Amino acid sequence: MTVLYNRVALVGLGLIASSMAHAMRRGGLAGEIVGTARSAETRKVAAELGFCDRIVPTAAEAVDGADLVVLAVPVGAMGTIAEEIGPHLAPGATLTDVGSVKRAVVDAVAPHVPEGVTFIPGHPLAGTEHSGPASGFAELFENRWCLLLPPEDADPAKVDRLAALWRAMGSNVDFMDIERHDLVLAVTSHAPHLIAYTMVGVADDLRRVTDQEVIKYSAAGFRDFTRIAASDPTMWRDVFLNNKDATLEILGRFTEELFALQRAIRTGDGDLLFDYFTRTRAIRRSIVEAGQDTAAPDFGRVGTKR
Ligand code: NAP
Repeated sequence: MTVLYNRVALVGLGLIASSMAHAMRRGGLAGEIVGTARSAETRKVAAELGFCDRIVPTAAEAVDGADLVVLAVPVGAMGTIAEEIGPHLAPGATLTDVGSVKRAVVDAVAPHVPEGVTFIPGHPLAGTEHSGPASGFAELFENRWCLLLPPEDADPAKVDRLAALWRAMGSNVDFMDIERHDLVLAVTSHAPHLIAYTMVGVADDLRRVTDQEVIKYSAAGFRDFTRIAASDPTMWRDVFLNNKDATLEILGRFTEELFALQRAIRTGDGDLLFDYFTRTRAIRRSIVEAGQDTAAPDFGRVGTKR
């Protein structure tokens, strides 16, 4: 057990922040964990759950004297919070965030970071479709990547310490450039979520026609889509509004491919379909080999711990 930070301030107390608190507690990584959230209800639930040492009403109070401050609110709220806490950040502190989009967050937060405070944007590639303070658990980050995106002039000792924290919480840490992050995540996470939302929307329309059959007979494919499409509406609205260019680029390519497959079905081009599906199956295999998923069948019930 090594205390890496004397006082960690968590701003926002949802899935990610509460999971961080549980993981830091488990590893004895923080001297003290102070938390705050926008609503009195979330603060009350978090206080009852007890994963923070102290819960305070405002972000300005939470960051007071903290050597690590974590912004764990929806992407669209980061700038306002940064403006509020900027004058209260302790000299020498590290400020980080866990937002799913990076360019927009850096542009919104960086102007409010005072001299002497190091801002190291981050993004743990871990989550579930659940949200709120009761949804967190210590194992969320285990064997998942956490991407850190330090500016070139960031103090290496501060970057190392933040990387050590994520590793101690179970993550593998990698470093990435901001633009690359937003494009990679548009492919691996943002566009797939939009497709899942769309598919479930289509099925919902159909359900009115087929009188509940879509729900009753929903097989693994559709059930997996519904799990993704149950993700937090605020978080995902903000992701799309703040990673507009990369998401639209990927959706453009997606539409082109979809048309090609549609055409293959219409013209009976079985070879094209077979070759396409063979290629995509190999990608699944490489994800399993990279340890990012297991080959076990998953019908949307396992691996979705609360
Ligand atoms: P969450 O469970 O929905 O919690 C969000 C927290 O932010 C809550 O404490 C909420 O406070 C607060 N909040 C919401 N809107 C706010 C606003 N306008 N101003 C101030 N505070 C506000 O969210 P989460 O899943 O932990 O996500 C937090 C961040 O992590 C997001 O930026 C998200 O992109 C990123 N992320 C999420 C996942 C995932 O799968 N969930 C994975 C990686 C990264 P109240 O409860 O008081 O409303």
